Amino acid sequence: MSTRTMYTPQNPLDQYPRPPFPPQQQDGPGDIHEMTPVPDHGEQSYLGSGRLAGRKAIVTGADSGIGRAVAIAYAREGADVALSYLPEEQRQAEEVAQLVEKAGQSALLFPGDLQDEATNGALVEAAVAAFGGVDILAIIAGTMPTVDSIDDFETKTLDHVLKANIYPLFWLTKAASPHLKPGASIVTCSSIQGFQPSPQLAEYAVSKAGIANWTRAMAQQLAERGIRVNGVAPGPVWTPLQPAFVPNEKIESFGSEAAYGRPGQPAELAPPFVLLASQEASYISGETIAVTGGTPVH
Ligand code: NAD
Ligand code: MG
Repeated sequence: MSTRTMYTPQNPLDQYPRPPFPPQQQDGPGDIHEMTPVPDHGEQSYLGSGRLAGRKAIVTGADSGIGRAVAIAYAREGADVALSYLPEEQRQAEEVAQLVEKAGQSALLFPGDLQDEATNGALVEAAVAAFGGVDILAIIAGTMPTVDSIDDFETKTLDHVLKANIYPLFWLTKAASPHLKPGASIVTCSSIQGFQPSPQLAEYAVSKAGIANWTRAMAQQLAERGIRVNGVAPGPVWTPLQPAFVPNEKIESFGSEAAYGRPGQPAELAPPFVLLASQEASYISGETIAVTGGTPVH
């Protein structure tokens, strides 16, 4: 039996599954248990070492994909974690809450649609009430409808994408602001799409470019308060977002466009989110780190 772990030096090209993948489609927001192969969020693999001891985090999109991997990693690094997700994702979120508690930390389950400003405020207040404060905001939730042609553009699609992907940056940060002390950290989730957009993802890509831009603006605005703001720009990652929004022909070859020729797993995104949240990143602010399997972004 192999004793290879995510910490063992090895060839990253064959560390995780490569395409082709079996055809599969889901209705959004999607379920990790309906994916083949099931993604790795670090449930078995991520080991913490106290890098976030005593911290109190809010993670959006925490039920699945990148947010799930980040919530697991934050807890194993010693943080209490408030889990934000859509109501229909309750079962997946409860699994994450159990993993957080198994790591010896407190979990808060907070279902709700972040397109509503009041939900964002209520999430922050619930986390503060449960944990006695908040000092890490990992804003990871996102949606990605595809539109083939400008002739099919609909205002409601852009409203939806911006409300889900951009507005919560402002709403959550404003609500958390009175609670954020020097040393607090905000981590956003952009995308390679924010820098190199695909033709069918214009609404999504403009939101992801906006996230990287907001990250730079807010880092400067909050610097004098000792609050850092950074982001991660993932390349293709094996999460339910993909079978929920992209057609089967792209699922079968998913990740083949990356220099590694494979998609990332959510577990491979957690370490940069941990670094950026931790005090080890004390001199990093306003940066968006590309995690793309070798494809240049900037
Ligand atoms: P995912 O579907 O597992 O996670 C997205 C989550 O966003 C959902 O679980 C849901 O809880 C949340 N969400 C969506 N709309 C919401 C709303 N209105 N209110 C509250 N929560 C909402 O997929 P993922 O790929 O892990 O996505 C996480 C982030 O990563 C997204 O911002 C996505 O744009 C970004 N990203 C993903 C990839 C990729 O290839 N998977 C690449 C680059 C960036
Ligand atoms: Mg989900």
